[in-house]
Amino acid sequence: MPSSAKYIFVTGGVTSSLGKGIIAASLAKLLQARGYSVTIQKLDPYINVDPGTLNPYEHGECFVTEDGAETDLDLGHYERFLNVPTSQANNVTTGRIYQYVINKEREGAYLGKTVQVIPHITDEIKRRIKLLGNTGKYDIIITEIGGTVGDIESLPYIEAVRQLKWEPNFDCIVLHLTLVPYLATSGELKTKPTQHSVKQLLESGVQPDILALRTEHRLPEGVKEKVALFCNIAPKAVIQALDAETIYDVPLLMQEEELDKVVLDKLNLDYKKEPELTNWKEFLFKLKNPKQKVKIGLIGKYIELKDSYKSIAESIIHAGTKNQIQVELVWIHSEDIDEKNVSILLTPLDGILVAPGFGERGIEGKITAVKYARENKVPFLGICLGMQCAVIEFGRNVLGFTDAHSTEMYPETPYPVIYLMEEQRSITKKGGTMRLGAYPCKVKADSLAHQAYGKIDISERHRHRYEFNNKYLADYEKQGMTATGINPENNLVEIVEVANHPWFVGAQFHPEYKSTVTEPHPLFIDFVKASAVQSSVYNSQSSNSQTQTVNLKS
Ligand code: GLN
Repeated sequence: MPSSAKYIFVTGGVTSSLGKGIIAASLAKLLQARGYSVTIQKLDPYINVDPGTLNPYEHGECFVTEDGAETDLDLGHYERFLNVPTSQANNVTTGRIYQYVINKEREGAYLGKTVQVIPHITDEIKRRIKLLGNTGKYDIIITEIGGTVGDIESLPYIEAVRQLKWEPNFDCIVLHLTLVPYLATSGELKTKPTQHSVKQLLESGVQPDILALRTEHRLPEGVKEKVALFCNIAPKAVIQALDAETIYDVPLLMQEEELDKVVLDKLNLDYKKEPELTNWKEFLFKLKNPKQKVKIGLIGKYIELKDSYKSIAESIIHAGTKNQIQVELVWIHSEDIDEKNVSILLTPLDGILVAPGFGERGIEGKITAVKYARENKVPFLGICLGMQCAVIEFGRNVLGFTDAHSTEMYPETPYPVIYLMEEQRSITKKGGTMRLGAYPCKVKADSLAHQAYGKIDISERHRHRYEFNNKYLADYEKQGMTATGINPENNLVEIVEVANHPWFVGAQFHPEYKSTVTEPHPLFIDFVKASAVQSSVYNSQSSNSQTQTVNLKS
């Protein structure tokens, strides 16, 4: 039986980084707010089977879904906007498509036929596109095609869209996002790149149904009509996508442009009701009207590309907003931190977050930052490698375990306080072989984690190979670092906390993958709250010391 789900393909032209993911997520939000069940899929034209093996400098963070798929960071936006989990089926790469087709060819499934881009690769792309529709769970599926129209890599995807547009019983439209550049010297917004980009799509046989024009300045009168005329589109289907103060404004900007209504008209769907966006608007109000400011340091080694920590940065925004606190994130390169400069670099901070990561580079800077946070009682959140650094630091400096380390960085360490999980020992291949996705965890009563979550049974997403070595657990607990979160199935330590400290939590999992606009993550909420308390204490101390200085001078 053909699926009744309707599809919206989102393509991009002129340049990359126009924010297709945010436009797709914003449109999805509006349709969801009208009562439709919506999901978003990302098709990535690169040959990696998934982004799990990519260095964050390439495409930013790797986002992990509940079912353990390592995916493009746009899936993070989709979840944060929609508050609905995505899955492996929501992210497909060219690598995955080819791997599947080649495996089938080796099995002899093509019965002697020549295996070709058309129809075999395009058929497999179409099959993956339809998988989400066939679940019967969604009214509308938004499929974002990565890359820019005209790229060699994107061609099979555009061809698949062309074929689907002609397929009986397959209801779809194409939204094309382009750029209208502003020429400062002449003070003009130019539409020619958009016209060329649409021509390029037309050369591939695809007529876009809606155009979204990304622009720095409001489009002057007549621009929409001009673009409409040149691109065979009704003027009301030409949408202005104005640069926004925050990505969370975009759904409302799209609503002003009536993008949701244009889409529903084209798909022959009812408007149902006005979008229900009360919570969203409340979030935006709080975001823009903070009552307090705090500074949180994000210590990582990929900070040159902030997208490497996208979900963490967004989680901090969600958590701050919940408490009407504006968090200034101070990005600090872990390679820049050493024992001599640590207090200069970290003193201005109200909270310290040590980020996830892999490999040796910058590790000592992270460990030094943890030591500073622990000794100076600055609220601390360590995520994955950040939690492992907290364990290493405590081992070295409190338990006297000289050269304690993770066997990832120092295989011969005399104190392997973090070591390779049993199930990882025989694994030789890197792709998709970590401990990935959601696992249950039991939280100890009366811990900071328990206070935050307000419950004992939680589930969090993972992406790591190494873990706390339980051989040392008793030593740690005796001296004040306790395991307050444990996987009930295999006893793996999931959360550690330090006593006699205002707020010190290390999590082996990634809480940032589960924070959304409407449901900020409890650990981030409490971390930001603790940082706000620290900020008031710090500010009152420094204003006292200022008074003292003044007194001394007078
Ligand atoms: N490199 C560490 C591990 O594999 C931590 C991973 C992470 O921070 N995501 O266990």
